[in-house]
Amino acid sequence: MDKLHDIRSVPILIVDDEQFFRDLLNDILVSEGYMVQVAQTGQEALKMFSEGNYQVVLLDLVLPDILGTEVLVKMKEDDPDVAVIMVTAYASMESAISALRAGAYDYIKKPIIREDLVRSVDRALERQQLALRNKLLVKQLETRLREMRALSREKEEVFRILDEGLVIIEEDGSIFDLNPKAAELLGNGIEPLTGTDISDTGLPIPEDFLASVSGAGQPVRTLMELVGGSDKSREIELVGLTMEQPTGVDRYLLGLRDLTVIRELERNREDFLAVVSHDLKAPLTSLKGFVELLLDGEYRSEETLKKYLGVLETEADRMMSLINNLLDLGRLESENIHLQLALVPIPDILTYIVKSLEGMAGKKEVILKADIQDDGNLVVDADRRMIIQALVNLFANAIEYSPAGGTVQGVVRNVGDSVLVEVMDEGPGIPAEERERIFDKYYQVGPTSSGRMKGSGLGLAIVKTIVELHGGKVSMNEREDGQGSRFLVSLPVSDGRVS
Ligand code: ADP
Repeated sequence: MDKLHDIRSVPILIVDDEQFFRDLLNDILVSEGYMVQVAQTGQEALKMFSEGNYQVVLLDLVLPDILGTEVLVKMKEDDPDVAVIMVTAYASMESAISALRAGAYDYIKKPIIREDLVRSVDRALERQQLALRNKLLVKQLETRLREMRALSREKEEVFRILDEGLVIIEEDGSIFDLNPKAAELLGNGIEPLTGTDISDTGLPIPEDFLASVSGAGQPVRTLMELVGGSDKSREIELVGLTMEQPTGVDRYLLGLRDLTVIRELERNREDFLAVVSHDLKAPLTSLKGFVELLLDGEYRSEETLKKYLGVLETEADRMMSLINNLLDLGRLESENIHLQLALVPIPDILTYIVKSLEGMAGKKEVILKADIQDDGNLVVDADRRMIIQALVNLFANAIEYSPAGGTVQGVVRNVGDSVLVEVMDEGPGIPAEERERIFDKYYQVGPTSSGRMKGSGLGLAIVKTIVELHGGKVSMNEREDGQGSRFLVSLPVSDGRVS
């Protein structure tokens, strides 16, 4: 009886209009140790039921106000789990069956036999106790399930937003799942990649890699080049791990870490040090040498003095220009860069540049021309100062690399939604295999064996950064006549939103 302990503290409701039976039922149950409450009519019983907490009800089939079966149905509506035992003086098979159909748990006949009553009540209470336990269990399971779902949603979210590619593959190499970063690296969407063989994705996993992962019991790493999603090849660190499955068939978890950006930063740092040590230290050493000569009075004529001072000025200018370029690029690459956009007519810019570089071109005996093809919209939304800086860099290079007597020509025209600026010269041009890298920071075409050439290798990187900040593109190709370089800048035509 111990298991009924809890439920015994919940009273049993006796509903009978006859005093005699009420007392009889009451006496038997109280003597058995149950708590009991009584009602005389259907109405009273329903009111008590809706206000109280009853697990078992003894309900007379015939009541003066409402039919017992009706009371039964209402109680069941209120609490479908209640165990109602019908008590009937007319113990016909028919009335018993209809009461059971209406949801009664059991029925007992009048005259009441003590053992029958106690057995039936005991059984009902036992069932209620069990039902309560089941309910509790279901509740606990539901809570656990909710927690597990929340947990797997959290994992799913981490999987989704992780900045490393994750691919889960089956033992046969087919992709079971992958996150968006992996899909991006492999150059396809999640859906089309799911189910395909990992070796068909452009990820060249070494043949023995998965085998070594299987035996390792810890993550295995390797470096590889991925020629996948983006047009550039990427350096990838691949980390492999086995995931034991309850089914016994293992899966592999592959982590793909893109090292391209880190490597690029490392290269930039090395290049930066090379530039600083060569392009700043070397001129400084020469400056110092000349200053010492001057201090020692080691010059024979006014002419030599002027020559020395001229060298000093040139070296100082070069250092100044390098430092300015470094600072400019640093600013342009900073995340808080703010463009002061205005409507900028590119023909005006071209005219302005040609005018301001006339002196430089004249010194090199280079002819500078502007060709404005004014048959479409040539206005862009731009930061005027920046656009001038980008185009000046292109024109200055063109003049710099032009032979004496050569022509540098700037052309501006409209091509659909873009304003196109061409800067052409008649210099040596740039070999095709170098063209992709000339816009990289510090890159110079064919530095001499003694080190870097004059210039910083930053001019074109500044052009590219500025043009891209304006949503445009810059490229370089050979002139159609094969004579010299042709740089192309395209900028989106103003949509009129900036005034
Ligand atoms: P730098 O300041 O060293 O000239 P840039 O970034 O402006 O750096 O140019 C990068 C490289 O591209 C230079 O080393 C140069 O050799 C090459 N280059 C740039 N413009 C021209 C051009 N118009 N003709 C030939 N070579 C050029």
